[in-house]
Amino acid sequence: MIILGNPKCHQTLNQKGDNIEKNGNSLELSEYRLLEDSLNELYVSPNIEMDSFKCIDSITYHVNIDTLTQLPFLYNPLSLLGQIKFACDTNFVPVLKYTQKDGIYLRRAAYESFVKMADTAALEGIQLNIISAGREFNHQKAIWETKWTTKYNYISNPISRAKEILNYSAMPGSSRHHWGTEVDINALSNAYFSTGEGKKTYDWMVKNAARFGYCQVYNNKNDRNFKGYNEERWHWSYMPLSTIMLEDYLKQIDYSMITGFLGEETATELQIIDNYVKAINTGCH
Ligand SMILES: [Zn+2]
Repeated sequence: MIILGNPKCHQTLNQKGDNIEKNGNSLELSEYRLLEDSLNELYVSPNIEMDSFKCIDSITYHVNIDTLTQLPFLYNPLSLLGQIKFACDTNFVPVLKYTQKDGIYLRRAAYESFVKMADTAALEGIQLNIISAGREFNHQKAIWETKWTTKYNYISNPISRAKEILNYSAMPGSSRHHWGTEVDINALSNAYFSTGEGKKTYDWMVKNAARFGYCQVYNNKNDRNFKGYNEERWHWSYMPLSTIMLEDYLKQIDYSMITGFLGEETATELQIIDNYVKAINTGCH
């Protein structure tokens, strides 16, 4: 059995969360139905039997994973799409060191290794500071839709508008930040990492990050057949987990699941999975 969520987590699983009854048995029933609805939307595989879901008690919902474990993947689509609440998922831990932000999360192994890396860097006079870590679906949706409705609102053609945003921001449901394996460090600026203190930090990461499992997945586009996001010298991925998550993503996620945001209709035409999700540094393993 795996824990999928509890009532506190529910709103990220389903937008209908506002309708949840707040007391008594009605809470259990409506929570269960909402959870099941949400999973029905996402688990399109006919191999998964929805009647295996059980409401165990008023706090925690469980799903029988006998069926899931027969499938050739480790991560369920909800995790891969960011449709989980990190605070309620025991695979995630709050980021307490090497950040000024409150309430940000990473997968446990990714965080522990980052702390070791940052400790080592600090001994050598290099400061690593996490400015963004795990992002749930709604967080990425807010980033995307803000750009869609304000900064790039002047571009009337939806494909062109989406392409412009995609220079640096992923569509909700296709961001590696959903996975809890990615960090943005120090400054969201390639220029910052090209001179002075920033360059020192970047050079240290290029030389040492791999020892801690981290890799710059968005390297120079020349080395990625000019596909995907622009270079991001600030974005580092914890490959021992993210490599598996990418494999699982490519097996399980299709365009019908990349939905729920303004401009969603452009995902298929732009072939977001092939042209962006897959387009990472081939030197990262
Ligand atoms: Zn990033």
